[in-house]
Amino acid sequence: MIIAAIAFLSLAIIFLITHMDIEAAVGALGVGVLLLIIGLIKKKRSSYKSEHPCSICNQKLPKLVRSQIGDGEICSACSRICLHSMLATTDEVKAAWERNHERLKKFEESRVVKSPLSGRIVLDTEHKWAYISQKRHLKKEPIVFSFSEIEGYQIESAGEHTVTKKMGGFTRAVVGGTLFGTAGAIVGASTAKEQIKTRGGIPILYVNLKIMNLRTTDSIAHPPVGANRILNSMMNQ
Ligand SMILES: [Zn+2]
Repeated sequence: MIIAAIAFLSLAIIFLITHMDIEAAVGALGVGVLLLIIGLIKKKRSSYKSEHPCSICNQKLPKLVRSQIGDGEICSACSRICLHSMLATTDEVKAAWERNHERLKKFEESRVVKSPLSGRIVLDTEHKWAYISQKRHLKKEPIVFSFSEIEGYQIESAGEHTVTKKMGGFTRAVVGGTLFGTAGAIVGASTAKEQIKTRGGIPILYVNLKIMNLRTTDSIAHPPVGANRILNSMMNQ
């Protein structure tokens, strides 16, 4: 495209130099400039696209929504399982997702903890597995975790300053951040089992997980009433 633009621009100059035809020169100049603009826009757009697909799901995605892991780049959907283990290898992340697919296939919903308009905690008490989801309809594959993979949880008000109480540990201040996703990356880094009390705002439940050596945080807004009791019970199983 850019080469064609240059060709038309050169043609315009040739027309002008040889005084063959001013009208033809202007025409060629117009076409050249147009092609140059289209070419530059296309080039800029393609620079936002990843040249390499996600190493896990093979989807080609824009640079802005991919994350670097130990030996590759993965899309934001695939990185949900390893938000705090960004040095993990592609094989480790792949293995964790494969096990997640398996668990989801075998998942037998035995109890759903929900309140009106709340997020949901879905349990398979037989396998001692669970997942959290905002709605009944799953847009993305949920992260199915074993009760024993819960390292801690917080119920935090969006945009508020709250205090985390670690079970058997010290107290740590956490600044409540954005509504979804990235805030979990900041608050979930500790290993001790932790709890949090909150008032006002939009409550968000963050569950800190360690799945096959990968650490991550999953979250839902408006956790159901009794979410803390059910999570404490899961952690004590
Ligand atoms: Zn992916």
